[in-house]
Amino acid sequence: MKTSIIWFRQDLRLHDNPALQAAVQTRQTIIPVYIYETESHNWSPGGASKWWLHHSLSALQQSLRERGSELLIVNGSAEQELHKLCLQMDTDHVFWNRCYEPYAVQRDQRIKKSLQENSIEVKSFNGSLLTEPWEGLKKDGTPYRVFTPFWKAMQRNGFSHYTAKAPVKLPAITPTKLKINNVDIDSLQLLPQIPWDADIRNRWQPGESGASKALADFLDNAIANYPEERDIPGIDGTSCLSAHLHFGEISPWKIWQSAQQWSAQNTSAGSIKATEAYLRQLGWRDFAHHLLYHFPHTTDKPLDERFNSFPWKKNYKKQLHQWQKGLTGIPIVDAGMRELWQTGLMHNRVRMIVASLLTKNLLIPWQQGAKWFWDTLVDADLANNTMGWQWTAGSGADAAPFFRIFNPVRQGERFDPKGHYVRHWLPELSSLPDKWIHQPWEAPQDALEQAHLILGENYPMPIVDLSDSRKRALTIWNELKNKT
Ligand SMILES: Cc1cc2nc3c(=O)[nH]c(=O)nc-3n(C[C@H](O)[C@H](O)[C@H](O)COP(=O)(O)OP(=O)(O)OC[C@H]3O[C@@H](n4cnc5c(N)ncnc54)[C@H](O)[C@@H]3O)c2cc1C
Repeated sequence: MKTSIIWFRQDLRLHDNPALQAAVQTRQTIIPVYIYETESHNWSPGGASKWWLHHSLSALQQSLRERGSELLIVNGSAEQELHKLCLQMDTDHVFWNRCYEPYAVQRDQRIKKSLQENSIEVKSFNGSLLTEPWEGLKKDGTPYRVFTPFWKAMQRNGFSHYTAKAPVKLPAITPTKLKINNVDIDSLQLLPQIPWDADIRNRWQPGESGASKALADFLDNAIANYPEERDIPGIDGTSCLSAHLHFGEISPWKIWQSAQQWSAQNTSAGSIKATEAYLRQLGWRDFAHHLLYHFPHTTDKPLDERFNSFPWKKNYKKQLHQWQKGLTGIPIVDAGMRELWQTGLMHNRVRMIVASLLTKNLLIPWQQGAKWFWDTLVDADLANNTMGWQWTAGSGADAAPFFRIFNPVRQGERFDPKGHYVRHWLPELSSLPDKWIHQPWEAPQDALEQAHLILGENYPMPIVDLSDSRKRALTIWNELKNKT
């Protein structure tokens, strides 16, 4: 009997998976496959993503085994491996959920064409977005570049199919007997050689059940206060679902529906506001994916072409290193960079602050920050990361204007007034009074002494003068603006 391949990619889940559902409905034997691609490109997975992928694949493998099936893991070129497998497994259908990264779009088009030339039918589905990029265009057929009208249009037009789209049930999966040797997950060597992952291991549970738990925790404990607390880095006020979403361990419509159900059970004006505020973030995620699809060059080049001639600093190696290691001497920035290093995540508010310091005060190209995030974030996502960096640098769609430069001291005082977040990640500052916690360099000598702090010894002096560098950035911006 002919077989079908379900090619898992960024949809590492069994529940609520349109491609899997459709594959099962062909009533043929299904071969679940994951291909770890060895062809490297600019945005091949970074260290933290690989760590997550290892555990997410193990979880998927385990779930399939519990159902008598087996995830066939292959290492190599997706195109070649799929062709080989189709031949070996006597396959006439390949199913997958769509990806939107430029290299994935090109790869999938190529593979689809070549499989079809070999009389193999390819069926692809939307497994990860509320609305796909070609569904969310303006009346004139061009993509939105500003979020609010995009979101309004999505709510007006885009979600009718979407709210109707209830999470699909877990299909019955026919046990598979593999006729070929399977690669062991360990042999993909996704885990680090030097064990830097101890804290990350304690913090996360990759895989479908980890995603469901994170969602349940968020609904039980945090969504009600999301509008007030989502910006406070010292509080667990957000869902921490981004890595689960990136790897497709949970679908956005499952999250959407669960949040709506929570809202229906908690019928105060506050709960409606909280649910809307949260779901809007899923809208930003869609927006980022639409932008990436329509403007694929933005992973490396600014969307706003004026920034092509921006005079970024040339010799920045030392300062980039200080920023990466959380040694800038600016507490909220250093706390964020250390949170990132230790847990693979950084709070959204702090991501904006550290990105602003890098691009505007230090004048280091945003692409350098994006690369560091790419390697260290467990939720590294080409669409969200590209949009986040271009937004902060001022060069993207609906970007924060370049002249709006975050002052990290004021941001710290506003969003971490008691310094809980800073004290947690920078224990060397833990005894400083609140008044100086975001600017230890302004503290009088006796306050430093009482806090056992010697600036330049156990905590750095700031590597940049915030006020001078702000003025310098504004001058550059005014010159650039007037030139174009
Ligand atoms: C410079 C910079 C780089 C970023 N890089 C990434 C990245 O690589 N991967 C990533 O997933 N997010 C990225 N973000 C967006 C955001 O910081 C994270 O999605 C968020 O912090 C994840 O935490 P959470 O799941 O608790 O979010 P919640 O507040 O609970 O939001 C729910 C979900 O909405 C989506 N979301 C929330 N905020 C945004 C946003 N601003 N843009 C797009 N989607 C959003 C995420 O999928 C998130 O899981 C970046 C932001 C900035 C400023």
